[in-house]
Amino acid sequence: MNQSFDYIIVGAGSAGCVLANRLSADPDISVLLVEAGPSDNSLFIRMPAAFTYAISRSRFDWGYRSEPEEYANAKRFPIPRGRVLGGSSSVNAMSFVRGQRQDFDGWAQNGLPGWSWDDCLPYFRKMETFSGGADSWRGGEGPLHVRAPEASGPLYQAFLQAAEQAGHALHDNTNGAQQEGFQRHGPDHP
Ligand SMILES: Cc1cc2nc3c(=O)[nH]c(=O)nc-3n(C[C@H](O)[C@H](O)[C@H](O)COP(=O)(O)OP(=O)(O)OC[C@H]3O[C@@H](n4cnc5c(N)ncnc54)[C@H](O)[C@@H]3O)c2cc1C
Repeated sequence: MNQSFDYIIVGAGSAGCVLANRLSADPDISVLLVEAGPSDNSLFIRMPAAFTYAISRSRFDWGYRSEPEEYANAKRFPIPRGRVLGGSSSVNAMSFVRGQRQDFDGWAQNGLPGWSWDDCLPYFRKMETFSGGADSWRGGEGPLHVRAPEASGPLYQAFLQAAEQAGHALHDNTNGAQQEGFQRHGPDHP
């Protein structure tokens, strides 16, 4: 079978899937997306809290190991990487953390123009639909639906109180103006 494509993307992970989706939005463009791993149709992938099972299964993981670590008795540590449709995003912990403004600004200052926080923020907003609604930090119409977990139980509140008593900041939006500190969740703090 002889077939030709405008684009061949190797790896159907986070980046590859986004790229394939954006390119194939143009019906005149043909795209081949190649993935080394199997289908993501598994209970261990569908159930977010089960991600540690997914990475412990060679079916979904490349099985990389670190070099022997000199200061850990030459132990070789596992370095999980997804080998499945969806790549590492199929086996990750699903925490939505954009990163720290200072890191982005540092990259821009050190020779990566276009990667400052202010440059990236419009794209962060464009990619997401946040359960708490859109504002100047969060998106409201993007393809990635981000939901704050329901965490209003008494243990959770005690944990936050302990953090506050220890002098840490509590805030309402980990992906907002301030990242350092502890985040409140629950009906009043989506
Ligand atoms: C265990 C774990 C937990 C994580 N938790 C979080 C989290 O909570 N929040 C967060 O934001 N990020 C998390 N991450 C990181 C995040 O998942 C990755 O940064 C992101 O998925 C990387 O995207 P990528 O497209 O670069 O690579 P990947 O998503 O890893 O995609 C690469 C794809 O290429 C395929 N591939 C490689 N070589 C070939 C080949 N030769 N031929 C065909 N296919 C090939 C692989 O099988 C894979 O599917 C986690 C990662 C892991 C492993």
